[in-house]
Amino acid sequence: MRKRYIAGLILLGFFLLYAFVRSLSNILLSGRATAICPRCGSTNINPSKKRQAPDVLFRVFGCIACRCSICSYRFYRPRPSSPAI
Ligand SMILES: [Zn+2]
Repeated sequence: MRKRYIAGLILLGFFLLYAFVRSLSNILLSGRATAICPRCGSTNINPSKKRQAPDVLFRVFGCIACRCSICSYRFYRPRPSSPAI
């Protein structure tokens, strides 16, 4: 019983680590002067209006949630210095 609990915790930890590393790679990919979608490469990017739980964490690190207008992929990118994205 206890072993299954620990195995579940380890699995959850790996999943969270994977999600975090994937988000970081997306941030690095989209951190250029013109924002591009990490999935399809489109420059048609809009700020995501829906709030999700990780948004607060990424906002602390200066990142905002964006959504691609072409493939509707949601990702994080560094907050631009100018208000227009
Ligand atoms: Zn896209």
